[in-house]
Amino acid sequence: MRAAVFSTKPYERKFLEEVNLNYGHDLHFLDMHLNHRTAVLASGFKSVCVFVNDQVDKETLCKLATGGTQLIALRCTGFNNVDLKVAKELGLTIVRVPEYSPYAVAEHTIALILSLNRKIYRAYNRVRDGNFSLDGLVGFDLYGKSVGIIGTGKIGSLVSQMLIKGFGCKILGYDLHQNQDLEAQGVKYVDLVSLAAESDIISLHCPLTQNTRYLINEELINYMKPGVMLINTSRGGVIDTKAVISGLKSKKIGYLGLDVYEQEESFFFEDWSNKIIEDDLLERLLTFPNVLITSHQAFLTDNALSNIAETTLSNLRDFEKGYPLSNSLVDVDQVEVDNQKILIPTLGRD
Ligand code: NAD
Repeated sequence: MRAAVFSTKPYERKFLEEVNLNYGHDLHFLDMHLNHRTAVLASGFKSVCVFVNDQVDKETLCKLATGGTQLIALRCTGFNNVDLKVAKELGLTIVRVPEYSPYAVAEHTIALILSLNRKIYRAYNRVRDGNFSLDGLVGFDLYGKSVGIIGTGKIGSLVSQMLIKGFGCKILGYDLHQNQDLEAQGVKYVDLVSLAAESDIISLHCPLTQNTRYLINEELINYMKPGVMLINTSRGGVIDTKAVISGLKSKKIGYLGLDVYEQEESFFFEDWSNKIIEDDLLERLLTFPNVLITSHQAFLTDNALSNIAETTLSNLRDFEKGYPLSNSLVDVDQVEVDNQKILIPTLGRD
C-alpha cells in the first residue's frame, strides 16, 4: 500500500523501515505535521499515516478525501486530534494503535516522580560543574505516601501497581469505571475532591476529552495539599497551565512533572534551542527549579516503537486486502468516542 507517513523522525523511521521488510508497503516519509496546509502533499496517496500532533480536522480531512485518500492510520492510541464525524461523512476509514506499551509510559511516570523528588536533574548538572553541595536537594521518602491516580486504565493501573509494590505507597483512584482487580490490590476509589485533598502526589492518566479538559484547574488546585507533586504524562489539555503556574508561584504546587503540554504541537519533538520561543506559559514553566519537563517522550522505548510500527503496518495491510479491521475507530466503545469528540490543538505549525 502506498502511504504518506507524516511527522516521522529518524528514530521512528528505523523501526517502520525494519518492520516494513515483512510487509512491503510503499512508505513516503515526511518530516512535517499533517494539517490543512500540508494535506496537499498527500494527494494521490490511498493511505495517510499520522501521529499525536497532526491536525486531522475537517479542512484537512476534506483535502485528503479530495486527493484520493481512503485510509488514515494513527500511529498512536489517542484520537482527540481527529474529527471522526467528518471522517465518517467523507467515507474515510480511521485505524489506530490501541495499545503499544503501557509499561513505557508508566515507567517514565515513575522516572519523573523520582527525578523530581530527589532532584536528580539538578544534582546531575551540579556535580558536572564541580559543585558537590547538597543544599536544596532534600527529598522525601515515597514509602507510605498517598498517590492520587486520575484514570486507572492500562497506564494508570501499572503506575498504581509499581507504586504499591515497589515503594509501599497508598493509592487513591479516580475513574469513571472502578477496576476491581486494582481495588483488591489496595487501590481505594474516591471522588475527585477527596483525591485532590488527600494526595501527596497526583498523576494524570485519563484521556483528553470534553470532560477532562482543564480537569486540573484553579478550583481543584485549591483543594490540594500544600507542596503537592503533580505529574502529567497523559495529554497537556487536562491541565490549565495558567492555573498551575499560579499554583507554583503560591507554592501550593511543590513539584511539577510534565511530559505533555497543552500547546506542545508547536514545539515538542523539534529543536528550538537556537530560536525564540514565543510561548510565555512554556517559558515561565521552564524558569521554575521545581518543574521538570520532557518532550512527550514517555512512549519512547524500542519496544513501543516496534509495536507501533507492527500494528500500523498490519493495519495498512488489512485495509488493502479487505480483511476485518480490528483497530478501526468504528469499533471503539461509543462512550469513548463521545468523550473524545474533536479536541484539535489550537496552535498548529507545518
Ligand atoms: P486507557 O483507555 O486504558 O485508560 C484511560 C482511563 O481513563 C480509563 O480507565 C477511563 O475510564 C478513564 N477516564 C476517561 N475519562 C475519564 C474522566 N472524565 N475522569 C476520570 N477517568 C476517566 O488509556 P491508557 O492506555 O491508560 O492511556 C491513558 C492516556 O495516556 C491516553 O489517553 C493518552 O492521552 C496518554 N498517553 C500518553 C503517552 C505519552 O507518551 N506521554 C503515551 C500513550 C498514552
